[in-house]
Amino acid sequence: MKVACFSTKPYDRRSLEAADGAHEHEWNFFEPRLSPQTAPLAAGHQAVCAFVNDDLGRQTLDILARGGTKFIAMRCAGFDRVDLDGARELGLGVGRVPAYSPHAVAEHAVALLQTLNRQTHQARARIENNNFALEGLLGFDLYGKTFGVVGTGKIGMCMIRIALGFGCRVLCCDPFPPAELESLDAHLVELPELLAHSDIVSLHCPLLPQTLHLINSQTLSTMKRGAFLINTSRGALVDTRAAIEALESGQLGALGLDVYENESALFFEDRSTEARSDELFARLISFPGVLVTGHQAFFTREALDNIAQTTLANLNGWQTSGSCPNPVV
Ligand code: NAD
Repeated sequence: MKVACFSTKPYDRRSLEAADGAHEHEWNFFEPRLSPQTAPLAAGHQAVCAFVNDDLGRQTLDILARGGTKFIAMRCAGFDRVDLDGARELGLGVGRVPAYSPHAVAEHAVALLQTLNRQTHQARARIENNNFALEGLLGFDLYGKTFGVVGTGKIGMCMIRIALGFGCRVLCCDPFPPAELESLDAHLVELPELLAHSDIVSLHCPLLPQTLHLINSQTLSTMKRGAFLINTSRGALVDTRAAIEALESGQLGALGLDVYENESALFFEDRSTEARSDELFARLISFPGVLVTGHQAFFTREALDNIAQTTLANLNGWQTSGSCPNPVV
């Protein structure tokens, strides 16, 4: 099949070309994000390969369908930017990569947490400046703390195991918890109880209409004062303005984010020569207790290999049988 790959970075191209060693498909790699403006580039391609912040709204889908596209291979787990009703109406198949490395994301959540807690980023700057003072670097033991995990899917379960390994008491919540949760020493509770008792809250649920701004001024006010909040899931789970107010008041002790609700205008590009246009983001990162990474939690060698291999399996399945092993339904 001819495949138009959007939002292509050099590492995407390397891993996808390596996975398609048998040259099953004719790839055209495009750097721009998929949008109504760039969708005409896909004309004549039976498949489109898209990434997390690509715009697959109705307008884009209409243009893709008119250009002959039949299948969209998302090379990510999330599909909140795909108009699934539109895809169904237009007869477009959609596949995704449901799991490429839950470990990568959970481990990155720990990296955010421990950087904020033990301030290794500040320590490095101090040592480079010949400053060996410890004042201001005081952290806390994770051992014995209460760790709240919101969402006990693939990543949440990894997070629970890691938190148990640190010797934390683990609370978790999920409307559909997996059966294997019962074998772990984690306590399934409702969200209000989790928020009220956790020293650390880590978000691992998807962005849905019901979870939009799950963390807002009301829920923040019910959290333990000074708690740490980590979000590696989707930016809009957290109301950024409310989080800023909670940081200002000290209600929130620290905030580690790999995702941000307006990230699609910022992330995945080098903007170091541009003025900051997002005032909310500028305010957010001005807090010493805030650490933001640019949606890199998935970014490990293992995850990239898995993404490429599953994407290939989805494309191959669609090509041979008109269905793919990991459909979005
Ligand atoms: P998953 O589908 O395996 O698990 C999600 C879990 O959340 C499910 O068990 C579901 O029942 C639960 N859930 C749904 N609504 C909930 C609610 N209101 N409260 C609590 N739990 C709820 O997904 P996953 O693979 O574990 O991924 C979780 C999220 O991580 C994804 O939705 C995606 O947004 C994000 N993600 C981020 C990155 C990154 O690089 N930062 C990479 C992959 C995935």
